[in-house]
Amino acid sequence: MLVQSSLSEVLKARSELFSRTNWTDPTSQLQNRVKGEDLSKYFVLTESEEIGIRETIRLHVSTTPYYLSLSDPIDPNCPIRRMIVPRSEEAVFSSEESPDPLDEERLSPVRGLTHMYPNRVLLFSNHSCSVYCRHCMRGRKVSSSDERMEKSDLENAFAYIRTHEEIEDVVISGGDPLNLSDSRLEWILSELHSIPHVKICRLGTRNPVTLPFRITEALCKIIETYNDDKLSIFCNTQFNHPKECTKESKEAILRLLKVGVSVGNQSVLLKGINDEEEVMLTLHKKLLEMRVRAYYLYDPELIPGSRGFRTPLARGIEIVEYMRGKIGGMGIPQFVNDLPGGGGKITIAPNWYLGYYPKTRQHAFRSAVTKKIHLSFEPVGSNKESYYPTISDSEWEKFGL
Ligand code: SF4
Repeated sequence: MLVQSSLSEVLKARSELFSRTNWTDPTSQLQNRVKGEDLSKYFVLTESEEIGIRETIRLHVSTTPYYLSLSDPIDPNCPIRRMIVPRSEEAVFSSEESPDPLDEERLSPVRGLTHMYPNRVLLFSNHSCSVYCRHCMRGRKVSSSDERMEKSDLENAFAYIRTHEEIEDVVISGGDPLNLSDSRLEWILSELHSIPHVKICRLGTRNPVTLPFRITEALCKIIETYNDDKLSIFCNTQFNHPKECTKESKEAILRLLKVGVSVGNQSVLLKGINDEEEVMLTLHKKLLEMRVRAYYLYDPELIPGSRGFRTPLARGIEIVEYMRGKIGGMGIPQFVNDLPGGGGKITIAPNWYLGYYPKTRQHAFRSAVTKKIHLSFEPVGSNKESYYPTISDSEWEKFGL
């Protein structure tokens, strides 16, 4: 039953929740998660949010007290709140949307495993998360108990990897693999470690953002055991807004770095949350301060109810263009589109390269710093001149060089 709470009731409920949670204990954080209609006790809801909570059927609604504490109880435009609380747009589906826009199920030879690229696979280890992000592109998996991965499913997945010697790289995702117990995660890592041709393991987790206390010393010890000469373990996480870059998150990242796990960030470009140039620049500056390298900026997928989050494709290009020259290259994400229908990822970059002018053997570039056109010569005797888009005489003249 959805109740409308006043601000004083919301503040009181928050204070009670925060004091009954053993703050740095991940189990207590998970036990005290706020779910479904209970969100109405912790926010002064708008009409759109009320509809969103009542009518959302695609994806669970849940947040840890820690992540809730980063959100604003009154302002509906708070970026953290927008990632926690569904809005009415989320309940509206359109025909161009799909629960599985990347065709992951079609590319799944055994349950819970997607094999799209020749040398790497995506393993769905579990279907639960600490917080259910409203923009999640795997809502079909994380919200369905039918998607639960049993031990036998994982054994079948390992058997598949074992018999496919071309697989060198395993991405473990879900759900969130760090929502598994330590013992289950240890078993998964030990299995992968024992497969001779698997050299790389990537953990996809949002826990450094939504429940940083889950990155415990004990967990790091397990990871350290298997992160050796034989297997390199990486972690990719998803910070989407500077408000998420807290002291607690930084400490969690440092614990991972200390056991030799390098951490990359995969943001999602989200309308009204981080689709402003300065927000994205600040986020990536803070991430570098936390020693997290930029990896991807995703164009959001066409999942059901995604209209509230999707921006024009141009926004991602403009933002990356803005960032160039204002932060070191390791702080600039690659803007990517994971092509619908299982086409894999492609990067979409600003148009810095303008083309080749054969008469002078020169390439023309647009500079991110000077905003002017700069030229560079193709080597004498090159046999690649036909490779480049050609600049016509009239275009060349327009440059006014
Ligand atoms: S943590 Fe990842 S898998 Fe889980 S809801 Fe968020 S985006 Fe989806």
